Amino acid sequence: MKAAVFREYSQDPLKVVKIDDVDTPKIKPNEVMIKVDAAAYNYNDLWAIWGDPVKVPLPHISGSDVAGTVVEAGDEVTKLKVGDRVVSHSNMSCRVCDMCTSGREYDCNERLIWGFQTGPLWGGFCQYTHLPEVNVAKIPDSVSFDEAAAVSMVGMTAWHMLVGRAKIKPGQSVLVMGGTSGVGMAGIQIAKLYGCSVIATAGNKEKMDKCTELGADHVVNHREADWYKKVREVTKKQGVDVVFEHIGKSTFPQEVSLLKMGGTLVATGATTGYDSTIDLRYLFFKGTNLLGSTQGNKAELEQVIYWTAMGKIKPLISTVLPFSEMAKGHTMMANGEQIGKIVTTPQKL
Ligand SMILES: [Zn+2]
Repeated sequence: MKAAVFREYSQDPLKVVKIDDVDTPKIKPNEVMIKVDAAAYNYNDLWAIWGDPVKVPLPHISGSDVAGTVVEAGDEVTKLKVGDRVVSHSNMSCRVCDMCTSGREYDCNERLIWGFQTGPLWGGFCQYTHLPEVNVAKIPDSVSFDEAAAVSMVGMTAWHMLVGRAKIKPGQSVLVMGGTSGVGMAGIQIAKLYGCSVIATAGNKEKMDKCTELGADHVVNHREADWYKKVREVTKKQGVDVVFEHIGKSTFPQEVSLLKMGGTLVATGATTGYDSTIDLRYLFFKGTNLLGSTQGNKAELEQVIYWTAMGKIKPLISTVLPFSEMAKGHTMMANGEQIGKIVTTPQKL
């Protein structure tokens, strides 16, 4: 089969990621084989190629979000069959510990992100891949493979942040930072689905317009120095109930200052840097809740797929690349050129 393989680390994906012929994998009794029709990119893929901050197993196939069709099922597989349309659930955890059995698989000590930390040669950017049944969710016919791949990890992550962690309620105000990123576009739509008012931020006019299209009630340019004053104006100086954060140090202190009394900031990343500061008076005097969040559980992924099928979450896809040109997607991602997700199609070279 064809697979996008790299055998050494490099800052330049175009130098090392090559479409190679590799052996088609064999499944274990608890696994299914998936013919991969669509695979979406994540920032994890770049960390793997760079070998920084994590050294992944080499040779490596990246890709944590795939959608396709089950073409083989192991003897112990009980709920999936050949022909099922499916999407990957990339949280690989032990499924036995108290975290896993209480629905907190993302807190399992043995958790690995499939397609990032797994290998050698075990990820999604290839024509056939294999996963345990528990790491696969069915998708209905009304959700395309491209959509399923594009929405799965970011949708689950955003759902877990807002619904699982911040526990949003109708009528609340939610500030979604970086509204056209993968998690941001899902965050806007999930907050609207829950009847919240949404203020989104973006870095230029084109991205701001896209946030409005996705359903944001107000949009602010977070590259302007006084962006947080504009948010405060929009809320008539009341502040917001929830901040949806993944930007990091460049905006974090202002985000904390924008919370209402008893408000909640939920964070899942730190793109602009992690060594931020916080004015502790905001923390204790205002009864602020600071929550961390990483990925989500399979039931949350299934909620996202359900609402995607219902048309309430529309995955934002920037580009679909033929597989022979898939390495370009990594450089597009590194340069932040895309609005929404990049997808490649391993069956279409
Ligand atoms: Zn576990």
